[in-house]
Amino acid sequence: MPQAEIGVIGGTGIYDPQLLTKSKKIAVNTPYGAPSDKVTIGEYEGRSVAVLPRHCASHAIPPHKVNYRANIAALKKLGVHTILAATAVGSLQNTIKPGQIVFADQFIDRTRNRISTFYEKEKVCHISVADPVCPLLHEFMWQIARKLKIPSHRTGTYVCIEGPRFSTKAESRLFRAWGGHIIGMTLVPEAVLAREAEICYSPIAMVTDYDSFRDTPVSIDEVLKTMKENDDKVKAIMNAAIPAIPTNDKRECSCKTALKGALV
Ligand SMILES: [Zn+2]
Repeated sequence: MPQAEIGVIGGTGIYDPQLLTKSKKIAVNTPYGAPSDKVTIGEYEGRSVAVLPRHCASHAIPPHKVNYRANIAALKKLGVHTILAATAVGSLQNTIKPGQIVFADQFIDRTRNRISTFYEKEKVCHISVADPVCPLLHEFMWQIARKLKIPSHRTGTYVCIEGPRFSTKAESRLFRAWGGHIIGMTLVPEAVLAREAEICYSPIAMVTDYDSFRDTPVSIDEVLKTMKENDDKVKAIMNAAIPAIPTNDKRECSCKTALKGALV
């Protein structure tokens, strides 16, 4: 089976597999079932990259039905040690505007029906997610966006809801009162499972619109235009990041030993 060191998880269009050279699509199976789609493996500027569309290329899988365990297990099986995860979000704050990027570094988990661990039998895994994204990768990604002058927020708390419905106004206002900055449906358990797999993980959240706390009429044309522009920004960030991401032996964070002391 071919190997890759950097994983890219995204919606469709986020990372164009055409950018990769020597690319091929492979089906990967895992003890947790099949991932959302075939994985495209190829090279970008000398680095081996595996691209997995979170919702399947035809966007057939809604966020609450994604097999997050299979997705992370498949990337782990391919040898991936670092994951860049693109995700579309709504804004919970007036100062976080559509078209901007948020380098979320905390989450509040409001999901209900998702399996968020690989360990269900013999052992129990109490993984630490006090800092749920890789601190070094997070800072590295933010610095790249800053150098590219892409409007971004260095930190942010991501409220992850079960979906697929959006929030009521009462919920949206509650999440604001809790200190939430952005809202989406995919960061949990994706980030948690990556930590259990001892993979460095950093989300790149693209703001498409304001959540329902604001009585802003949402035009679909406007949202689609913002999404297209967001895709271009995320691609620019990933293209600049991938060649410079530390190799496995140069990882200096604690992600690669995350299971130490976590298994009971
Ligand atoms: Zn790390």
